[in-house]
Amino acid sequence: MNQRRVLVTGAGGFIGHHLVSSLKTQGYWVRGVDLKYPEFSRSDADQFEVLDLRRWDSCLQATRGIHEVYALAADMGGMGFISCHHAEILHNNSLINLHTLEAARVNGVERYLYTSSACVYPEYRQMDVDVAPLKEEDAYPAQPQDAYGWEKLIAERLCLHYHEDYGMNTHIVRFHNIYGPEGSWVDGREKAPAALSRKVAVAKLGGDPTIDIWGDGAQTRSFCFIEDCVHGLSRLMASDFHDPLNLGTDRMVNINELARIIAEVAGTSIEIRHIEGPMGVRGRNSDNTLLRKVLGWEPGVSLEKGLGITYRWIEDRVREHIARAPDRKKALGELRTSRIYQPPCA
Ligand code: NAD
Repeated sequence: MNQRRVLVTGAGGFIGHHLVSSLKTQGYWVRGVDLKYPEFSRSDADQFEVLDLRRWDSCLQATRGIHEVYALAADMGGMGFISCHHAEILHNNSLINLHTLEAARVNGVERYLYTSSACVYPEYRQMDVDVAPLKEEDAYPAQPQDAYGWEKLIAERLCLHYHEDYGMNTHIVRFHNIYGPEGSWVDGREKAPAALSRKVAVAKLGGDPTIDIWGDGAQTRSFCFIEDCVHGLSRLMASDFHDPLNLGTDRMVNINELARIIAEVAGTSIEIRHIEGPMGVRGRNSDNTLLRKVLGWEPGVSLEKGLGITYRWIEDRVREHIARAPDRKKALGELRTSRIYQPPCA
């Protein structure tokens, strides 16, 4: 039995919730902290505290008696959210990051893992759909597209300086599009795999094959399944590596292809309609050279397998939603769009 005490911040969110379950199977004592409880299933945490980590006193309370912190709490979402909420994101996440790390230092936390994002990479390296995979050192000279990327970059630097100045054992991961079941799928913070799964499910169940895609759908990304993500996090936490490290797959697909793979796993056919909407950078892929070197591992779940699991979970949510709705047709219509992004917000 591993009696080390671990804190997962953002444990009510998508990745944090899965991470708590994974840490419990490894025998850790786990405290989860978030503004809210997980939405879709009970947390496996030994203790779950509802705290606002923008506050210094909450951060002190959260990190007390803890050996290892996985810092995941953040005000974030997919393109529809991060392209429209710059001030809120920069303000809230800066407070969370500054206070959580300092409280961990004050409370003598031994290991600290900060979850950054591929959104730190500069826009000028992501102008083509056929982009060169991004290496960790490509983050500089810095020019992230959104406030979300700047906030992540500053928090990365904070972790590096806490390591250099205080000898804290800090780790930094840069996620590339993590997806899977039990994440946002309709609240306006959902990312492309969940949003497209919902749209494909609506097309399948509603009998109208048309699905809307923001922009021309030629923008490229790589996607990493949640099971690989939590596995990589544990490996990085146990390592002696302190610089930023990519965590993603290096199979790049465009958004139109992503929709078609989802339609295939759903067993339905779709017709794509391109509409105005935020697209983010033109192309992005992960260079996993350093990941393989440092962790001796890289994500292995195929996109088809991961999307199959994710799609089935979202189709079940769509079925539940329309079964409860008084007007089935209206409910299906509402599920076609994201709740936050309304053009022309960007
Ligand atoms: P998520 O939104 O599902 O989870 C984040 C959680 O943080 C939410 O449950 C939210 O309630 C909580 N939170 C927000 N403000 C808080 C506060 N003031 N106090 C306490 N809790 C607060 O997002 P996720 O996908 O699970 O992402 C987890 C981390 O990984 C985030 O830091 C995110 O920026 C980073 N990340 C995720 C992805 C991805 O593809 N999902 C990509 C890059 C980086």
